[in-house]
Amino acid sequence: MKVRVAINGFGTIGKRVADAVSLQKDMEVVGVTKTKPDFEAKLAIKRGYKLYAAIPERAEVFEKAGLPIEGTIEDLLDKADVVVDCSPGKVGAENKAKYYEKKGIKAIFQGGEKSNVAEVSFNALANYDLARGKQFVRVVSCNTTGLVRLIYLIKENFGVKKVRAVMIRRVVDPKEDKKGLVNGIAPNPVAVPSHHGPDVQTVLPDVNIVTTAFKVPTTLMHVHSIMIELEGDAKADDVVDVLEKEPRIMLVSEEDGFTSTAKIIEFARELRLRYDLFENIVWRDSIAVVDGELYVTQAIHQEAIVVPENVDAIRAMLELADKEESMKITNETLQIGKLGI
Ligand code: NAD
Repeated sequence: MKVRVAINGFGTIGKRVADAVSLQKDMEVVGVTKTKPDFEAKLAIKRGYKLYAAIPERAEVFEKAGLPIEGTIEDLLDKADVVVDCSPGKVGAENKAKYYEKKGIKAIFQGGEKSNVAEVSFNALANYDLARGKQFVRVVSCNTTGLVRLIYLIKENFGVKKVRAVMIRRVVDPKEDKKGLVNGIAPNPVAVPSHHGPDVQTVLPDVNIVTTAFKVPTTLMHVHSIMIELEGDAKADDVVDVLEKEPRIMLVSEEDGFTSTAKIIEFARELRLRYDLFENIVWRDSIAVVDGELYVTQAIHQEAIVVPENVDAIRAMLELADKEESMKITNETLQIGKLGI
């Protein structure tokens, strides 16, 4: 029997998670929620998803707009084994208190929630087993997912003394027309450290890491400049060998024309729905080891990178598969590791 998955919040992350879950043979999407009957609600119905009102008091707004809904979030939760909460940051904690705890349903939260919303902060590569059987799990944010995947692989293979990383962040997602930064580079936060280092430690508690972060006027991707003091000896080629073996990391080169995030997205536009890149995009040419310190630059597609982790979190919580098996199925169904150039 398939695991029944509800998606609460059909926005940037929610619609991608819904589509990814639909591709899994061991899962089905039983419904998605929206707060208003806008074009995204209409698209959800067009794609075959059953639509529910995220806010029960707003159910009649959908009826007035002539959009058929099946009920409210409370009705949806009665039909599901697990809910993936993809509501805006901090709203997930409210939904937990209002609905999930009362119904006793398993729930996955996103990176915009505080880590104490869940029993485990999750990354499939780094700590899949900790989520096994749990009721509440948080999939860490896009930046943290990108950092954790890379640092975990380096730590497992070479040992890590300390990590320093600079996040150059896209200011908003492409659809966000109400906020932004048109001109300027904003240290965000100005004070050091940024929250990303402590967030990495929610998954990799024994990693010594400090991060700083800046927002820049672009919507496409984040870029991370990462410096890792290694415990063991490694050459750049040894690091390339490790990263090449991991499907959730994709290596690209300047000589192939990958001169910026614009070119990476142009490449993805040819190959993936919504140009989604579920992989960390690492510039092969950026990998260097100088005096025992590894330098590496990667780009992260913020809208997509957490999608496979949500699918794996469902398998871990419902104990449907072990780590290797789950990641393999997720990778195959989302074509992860198949874009190589
Ligand atoms: P979004 O604004 O695109 O989507 C959120 C959706 O939730 C919207 O459709 C909104 O109408 C709906 N919503 C509003 N109130 C709700 C409620 N009370 N209950 C249920 N749904 C409600 O936001 P997003 O970018 O998809 O972010 C969702 C979560 O994912 C946040 O925690 C965010 O921090 C995290 N996240 C976002 C990104 C990213 O770059 N977009 C990356 C990783 C993680």
